[in-house]
Formats: sequence, C-alpha cells, structure tokens
Amino acid sequence: MAWFPTDADCLDYLEWLRWPEGFVCADCGHHGGWRLADGRFWCAGCDGRTSVTAGTVFDRTRTPLTVWFTACWLFATQKDGVSASSLQRALEIGSYQTAWAMLHRLRSVLVRPGRERLSGTVEVDETFIGGEEPGLRGGRAKGKKSLVGVAVELKEPKGYGRCRMAPLADASATSLRAFLADHVEPGATVITDGWQGYHGIGELGYSHDRRSQRAARARGHDPGDLLPGVHRVASLAKRWLLGTHQGSVDPAHLPSYLNEFVFRFNRRSSRSRGLVFHRALELAVAHEPVRYRDIIIEPKPKKNPPTAPGGRGHPRSLERPPANRPWRAA
Ligand SMILES: [Zn+2]
Repeated sequence: MAWFPTDADCLDYLEWLRWPEGFVCADCGHHGGWRLADGRFWCAGCDGRTSVTAGTVFDRTRTPLTVWFTACWLFATQKDGVSASSLQRALEIGSYQTAWAMLHRLRSVLVRPGRERLSGTVEVDETFIGGEEPGLRGGRAKGKKSLVGVAVELKEPKGYGRCRMAPLADASATSLRAFLADHVEPGATVITDGWQGYHGIGELGYSHDRRSQRAARARGHDPGDLLPGVHRVASLAKRWLLGTHQGSVDPAHLPSYLNEFVFRFNRRSSRSRGLVFHRALELAVAHEPVRYRDIIIEPKPKKNPPTAPGGRGHPRSLERPPANRPWRAA
C-alpha cells in the first residue's frame, strides 16, 4: 500500500508489466505511441486510443486499482490466500459478490497456456475432494465427491518439487492418461499404485514404477505410505479448502480453487513475497478479460454431462453468492 497509494501508481506498474519495451498497440501491433493527459495511450500506427487495462483482466473494472492491488497482494502472498468474505471485510468492499468475483478473476489468470509439465520423478494418484468414501471399491468408485488427479515431483534426496491437481471425470485409463499427458512430461518416471487404470502408461513415454499395495501389506509396510508425496499434497489442499473456504467449494469451481492451491504450493519456497505478487499481476495483465458469466459457469471435467433439469443433486445456483443482493460489477 505504501508503494501503490493511488490508481496512477498502479497504472504505472501495470504499464511496465504489460509493455516492458514500451507501448505496443493491441489493435494494430504498432510499437510506439503517446501517453495522453487522461492516462490513456494514443497509437501512432492506427490513431486508436487505449488504456493499460484494456483487454486485460482489469478491463472496465469499477473497482479502484488500489483495491485490486491489495486484493492481489493478499491473494498471492498470504500463506492460505484469502476468502471472499475476509476480503470484503479487509477492504471494505461494498458487496460480497464484488469480492467473490475479484478472487475468481485472479484465480482464472493463474494457468499460463503452455506452462511446463512436471518432470523427473513424479508420484501420481487420485483422491476425492470433500472427504473419502469408505467402503467403495478400491476407494475409486465415484460418490458425491469430486475425483481429483494429483501429481507431485519428488526431489533427491528428499522433499517435493512442483505439483499439479485437476478434476478427473473418473478413474478410467482414458481419464488418467489424459491427466498424465496434460501434466507430466514424457520421459519422467511415474510412480503409481497398482490400479489398473495406470497399466501400460509406458506406451506414453513414461518409465512406470508401480507400487503394489498388496505387496506392501505382505511386506508388513503400511500401504498408505506408498505414495507419501501425493497424499501430503492432497491433505494440504483439503485442509485449505476446509479452513480458508470452509469447504464451500462447489464442483463447478473446484478447478479454479485447485489452480490457486497449486500456484501457491509451487511458490511456497519463494524467498520474496513481492515476486509472487509481481507474478500474479503479470499474469493478470497478460490475460484477456474474464466475464462474470464465465466465472459463474465454469467448464466441468469433459466426460461429465450437464445434469438435466429436474435431475438429481443440488442446482449449481445454490453454490453461487446470494442473488438477492444487488450485483455491482467488479
Ligand atoms: Zn494501433
């Protein structure tokens, strides 16, 4: 707050993040222009006028940039992030929906297209978010919970590197192979349990290290210790969802919460909190605008067909912020 006391300071910083080599017109690609008295830019190529925030996540925001910056600071640098209700209280933002939508806009910028996949030695497993379902076959039959794939790099001689988490439609070979292809670099050594869904992943270019639970039990080892890395990451994520967000995450929004968890986990050893803040803003200013309707309806895992009207389960609208309060665009 000392660095960015006014919106003009925030605009300067965003300008530097967006155009480190100087103004580039988003319309015509021309390099070079003038800054106008009102803070906007005038393109010398096409005569167009634009602003630093146009075409970014901050496009047309009615929330002051100083409030955005503080929200981003709390979001990126607090150990457990921030919930919409604490953000609303901390910043004295008028409505819960505004705080809620700001956080969802920040979450939606975190996944950079083409980011590097995990490599080296990687543990992979699935877990249910929202609690285990005891008594189901192998813990893998789907109940009401969301099934989530977890992958984490193992470091030598000990410790963990980066992780990835993403919802899975089911624990079939097709879903697990798609998860691996998205998140783990071919050539990596992939450690899994004995689940048949992982059979034959060597064909995808992985070196497969299967750890059989039955064999562990026969050796007198605890089968729960076979994949300590993924279990550690999964339990941290569950604790975070239950703590900061009090478990109030609906399946439609789970992917973006998982992205937030992964973003912070992968930067947990970053020595400078300022760098994490910088990175989040850099992604935000490079990301196209996120419409409110894109936040309230997020894509579900591909193989899950939408529930037909009158179908079972809670309508998604129950999980949204209360609609009886007037909505103010963030
Ligand atoms: Zn132009």
